[in-house]
Amino acid sequence: MAVKVAFMQLSDCWGCHQSLLNAHLGLLPVLPALEIVYWPAVVDFKHDSLKARENGSILVGFIEGSVRTNEDYENVKLMREKCALIINFGSCSCYGNVHGLANQWNKDDLVRRKFSEVESIADGSGGEPTQHTPGFRDKIVPVDDIINVDVYMAGCPPRPEQIVSAVIFLLGQKPFPMNDLAYCNDCAIKDNCLLDAGKLCFGPITSIGCSLKCTSKGKPCVGCFGPAKTVDSRAEKLGSMTKSLGAISSGDKKNLYEFLTLFLNVPLMAGFDLAGDILKQVKKHGTPDTPIANLPPTTEEIAGSLMAFLRDNSDFTEISNVCDTCPRIIGSKSTMTKVKRDYEGLPNMDDCLIEQGYICMGPVTRAGCGGLCIKVNAPCSGCYGQTEWGVDQAERFADTILKGFNVSLSKDELLAQVKDPIGTFEKFTLASRKGGV
Ligand code: SF4
Ligand code: SF4
Ligand code: SF4
Repeated sequence: MAVKVAFMQLSDCWGCHQSLLNAHLGLLPVLPALEIVYWPAVVDFKHDSLKARENGSILVGFIEGSVRTNEDYENVKLMREKCALIINFGSCSCYGNVHGLANQWNKDDLVRRKFSEVESIADGSGGEPTQHTPGFRDKIVPVDDIINVDVYMAGCPPRPEQIVSAVIFLLGQKPFPMNDLAYCNDCAIKDNCLLDAGKLCFGPITSIGCSLKCTSKGKPCVGCFGPAKTVDSRAEKLGSMTKSLGAISSGDKKNLYEFLTLFLNVPLMAGFDLAGDILKQVKKHGTPDTPIANLPPTTEEIAGSLMAFLRDNSDFTEISNVCDTCPRIIGSKSTMTKVKRDYEGLPNMDDCLIEQGYICMGPVTRAGCGGLCIKVNAPCSGCYGQTEWGVDQAERFADTILKGFNVSLSKDELLAQVKDPIGTFEKFTLASRKGGV
């Protein structure tokens, strides 16, 4: 049974759809499993056909764009009614994005500037158009200002692999070995079980069959072989450990990250935020031949606890910011002595861009892109969103880099040299700032 999917486009640039189409052959294994029921950017479906569908009958709805117009607002609500899972697709829907910077001005001023003052207005009519237009809302808001969202996939745009990964995960399409027995049966250190030493080892729910046998080297099993059809009796112990992850150690965090990536096929986890109960929804909508829907009950419970932990702990920061995925040297031979604009000078490819004087948002930006901009010698401008919310972002940036980077400016000197603080530190996220601008 193919899975019904809908794509909605709000006010935005279409770049996320372009990124999806850039996956090219990467889409081939996924497409046959999808029944695309609405995708106006690509397929000629009419809006009325979406409206006519039964509520909750579409498994996954991807929403691209932020809410600027009354039509956006209605479409977001419509998608929530029709789709079991909503994926915020790109930084516009997640955070409001660059056009959210418009929230610094009121709507009348924006309309006057856009329709009366700019040099390209030719007809001199002025004022907001009223014919065949949906009407602007007072402020730009991200999608979760209006409806509950289940998954956040940031990026401007998200990487094609990330989008395909999300779809593959939701469909459980990657074939698992799914052997009958669990890895514990093959483990050479059963009598000195790592679980007894308090380490998270996923052997009790992972298929046998691997040749690496990490536990032989004292390392926990992180689930590369996917779920086993039956679980080992030690799964009970593992289950109880995953119910109290509050004081999880750093090493266990890494294991958990690897487990979610390898066992549940959630690649690029750092760029794929869960908010809703994904396992439940996928199971309810039935993809009967897929492993996610067929997990043994104990495995499902353990996976559910881990996902809930991840949902509730936005400080799951082991592999968290762009610097963690950046090849450049921090503590290099360079030191920031003044703040340079991006067009000033040509940075070298080895030293950290901050230490070369540029404002690079890497240390305060969520990982997920793999350091795309830095690899082409441009500072990160923060499109994957902030690693911490509800704080003064300029202060946070300054405090962060003064602690860990070669910077010979005081905080005041540093911040005084940034020409456009909001456009620099909240370029993609201003519309998500609680309490307004
Ligand atoms: S997130 Fe970026 S690429 Fe995607 S629609 Fe918005 S502006 Fe375009
Ligand atoms: S600040 Fe930028 S250039 Fe420096 S390590 Fe982080 S991501 Fe790389
Ligand atoms: S380096 Fe920064 S701005 Fe560039 S894609 Fe990554 S998160 Fe976005």
